[in-house]
Amino acid sequence: MYEIGQPEAEAVAAVIASGQLFRYAGGRDAARTAAFERSLAAAMGVRHALATTSGTASLICALTGLGIGPGDEVIVPGYSFIATALAPLALGAVPVIVEIDETLTLDPAATAAAITPYTRAIIPVHMAGRPCDMAALVELARARGIPLVEDACQAVGGSWRGARLGSLGEAGAFSFNFFKNITCGEGGAVLTGDDRIFQRALIMHDGANPFFIDRSGAAQPTDAFAGMNFRISEIQAAILAIQLGRLDGILANLRRRRDILVAALADRGGWRLARSNDDAGDCGSHLALHFADEAAALGFIAHHRDAVGLVRPKDSGRHVYCNWEAVMERRPRDARLDPWRMARREITYARDMCPRTLDVLGRTVLVQVPYARTLAEVEAIARRLAGTA
Ligand SMILES: *Cc1c(COP(=O)(O)O)cnc(C)c1O
Repeated sequence: MYEIGQPEAEAVAAVIASGQLFRYAGGRDAARTAAFERSLAAAMGVRHALATTSGTASLICALTGLGIGPGDEVIVPGYSFIATALAPLALGAVPVIVEIDETLTLDPAATAAAITPYTRAIIPVHMAGRPCDMAALVELARARGIPLVEDACQAVGGSWRGARLGSLGEAGAFSFNFFKNITCGEGGAVLTGDDRIFQRALIMHDGANPFFIDRSGAAQPTDAFAGMNFRISEIQAAILAIQLGRLDGILANLRRRRDILVAALADRGGWRLARSNDDAGDCGSHLALHFADEAAALGFIAHHRDAVGLVRPKDSGRHVYCNWEAVMERRPRDARLDPWRMARREITYARDMCPRTLDVLGRTVLVQVPYARTLAEVEAIARRLAGTA
C-alpha cells in the first residue's frame, strides 16, 4: 500500500535538472538527504535519523550501532519478514526465535524466558502496522539491561501511547519498499536517540565517507571502522520528503476505512477481532480476525476473496519462521564465518518450535484495508464480509 504521484514526479525532475543526484557532491553532503533525515527525526520524535537503502540495511546499521557481533544472540519473533533474522546473521550474531501472542507480535513472557547470558538485543516487530506490547518489552529490556531494536518496517508512522513506533527502543528501523506505508522504490531509515549508536550506524552506512555528512551540532564520528555503503541517492530523498508529508494523511485514510470494517465486523459470530496493544496507534493497514480453527479461517477467505484482499498470515511465505529456510537449516554465507559456530552455545531450530505462533497464524485472517476505495465502497465491503449484504 502506498500513494505516489505528480508531486514526486516533479521533485525527481528537479533533482535531475539540478545535476545533483548524489548524497555527496564535491566532498560535501548534498541538501536533500540531510534535510529528509532532519524532517524524519523531527516527525518521529528522535534525535537522529539516518536514511539507508533498505529496511534490512537499517537493521544491520542499528545492530552495528549497538556493537552486535559474533557470539551474540538476538531475539526475534517467529512472525516477521525473514530480514529480521538475516540482519543479526549478517553481523555474525545468531537469531533466537520466540513465540508471538494473539496480537501477532512478540510475546513478552516468551521473550523473558528466551533470554540467556549471551542475549545482546531484542527485536520487537510491529507486524502489519500493529504495535508490540512496548510497556512489557521496555520494562523487561530495562530490567535485564538488553537493548531493544524496533523493527517498524511495516509500521512507519504508527505509534504506541502517543510515541511513534521506532522511537521507543534504543534504535528503530523503517523500510520504504513496495509494501510499506511510504516508499521511494527501495529504502529505509534508522532512528535513534543515542549519539554513539548513531555514529556507528553512520559509519556502517558509509565506511568511506562518514566525515562528509553535515551534522550541525552532532559530534562527528571519531572511531571509524570498516563499514559498508548503504547510501541513498538524492532522487530517493526527494521522493521521501514528499512521502513523509503524506504519511499522516495516509494513516488517517487507512484508519477511517479500518474503523468502518471494525464497526461492521466486531462481535459477529465465527470470529473475534484480534486484540491490539494500541488501537489508536495501530497503522490501520490491516485488520486481524481470529477464527476458531484453520478450516474456518480458510473458509472465510474462500468465500470473500473477491471482495477484498485477504491473507492468512500462515500462508504469507517468508513472514513465518518455518519458511526461513536459510535460517532454519543454519546455512551461513561462508562456512568460515558461520554465526552458529561462533555462538556461545548450540542454537537449533525446528518447524514446530513455536507451536502457539503457528496456531495463531493459522487461525487468523488479515484483511488488507482497501485504501484506494471510497468510504461508501468500504461500507459495502464491510457489509459483505459481515454477511449482511
Ligand atoms: C519489509 C520488512 C523488512 C525489510 O525491509 P527491506 O526494505 O525489504 O529490506 C524487515 N522487517 C520487516 C518486518 C519487514 O516487513
